[in-house]
Amino acid sequence: MNVPSPSDVPLRETEIRPDHLRRGQEERFAADIRRLMQRKGEFVDVACPACDARHAHGGFEKYGLTYARCGGCGTVYVCPRPGPDILAWYYAASENYAYWNRVLFPASEEVRRERIFRPRAERVADICRRHGVPGGVLVEVGAGFGTFGEEVRKLSCFDRVIAIEPTPDLAETCRRKGLEVIEKPVEQVRIDDQSVDVVASFEVLEHLFSPRDFLQHCAALLSPGGLLILTCPNIRGFDLLVLEALSDTVDVEHLNYFHPDSLAQLVSACGFEVLESMTPGQLDAELVRKKALAGAIDLSAQPFLKHILIDAWERAGSAFQRFLADNRLSSHMWLVARKPVGGSHARA
Ligand SMILES: [Zn+2]
Repeated sequence: MNVPSPSDVPLRETEIRPDHLRRGQEERFAADIRRLMQRKGEFVDVACPACDARHAHGGFEKYGLTYARCGGCGTVYVCPRPGPDILAWYYAASENYAYWNRVLFPASEEVRRERIFRPRAERVADICRRHGVPGGVLVEVGAGFGTFGEEVRKLSCFDRVIAIEPTPDLAETCRRKGLEVIEKPVEQVRIDDQSVDVVASFEVLEHLFSPRDFLQHCAALLSPGGLLILTCPNIRGFDLLVLEALSDTVDVEHLNYFHPDSLAQLVSACGFEVLESMTPGQLDAELVRKKALAGAIDLSAQPFLKHILIDAWERAGSAFQRFLADNRLSSHMWLVARKPVGGSHARA
């Protein structure tokens, strides 16, 4: 039999972000950006979120924000940046999020379930098996619509799945799906009645004022020997390296752009033992190709990229993307770490 399973068919961006709905999102996002930038005078300077260095050079500008590149570790980070109070104010009244919640996610949830959340749940189960954590309690921090929670529950490999989701509308959606929900920010959560074997957080770290504080709260939730599983963008991935400020991943909501080494450095400083990092992304090549086709970048001086992404796309595009994913060169990154038995051994 040579019938491809859904996960063998390359994911296409329009499946999860239909073009006609994207335009509605872009208008609302532009309004959000204008609102946020009215408070730019209140933004605060920060050190590198990965290594704490304060010397940055290079980097780039977008939307009136500075994306500084750490001179120590190469992490890119927004500096100055909105503080936690401004971020809470921004998200609470975000037109983009309201549109995402009301229109975009519901319109694409089933495709996302098949193409993103089910494979994500299977990958988490595989990671846990490989690292000797075959079940127990899984906590997802920032559960959103609860689709991952639903999918991981279907695998029946965890005794209990808990969704931490502080946004009231999203927490309600999780509850309607029958998930056990804690409607609080992670820093206020205590789970005393049972040990936590896995803390997972998908695409959250890049949004946070202080990833270090967040990871320390994750460490406090986990039992010794438990696993931390994170995903976030990789600034050394193909689409971010080629497109830099032109990448749609670079936006005002994403304040932190780690790479595998700098994220490992931060996670280690928060007391974890890093077990593995990987970049199983599927969209880098397509995202760069679309920017080239739209005229946003010029590949005429990049004959190799032009050949792969345009001329030989049908034949070589998928294989090229697999090469990126297999060699930690995709912009979509996973990191797995363990909380050491015997307590955290390092301090930031
Ligand atoms: Zn740094």
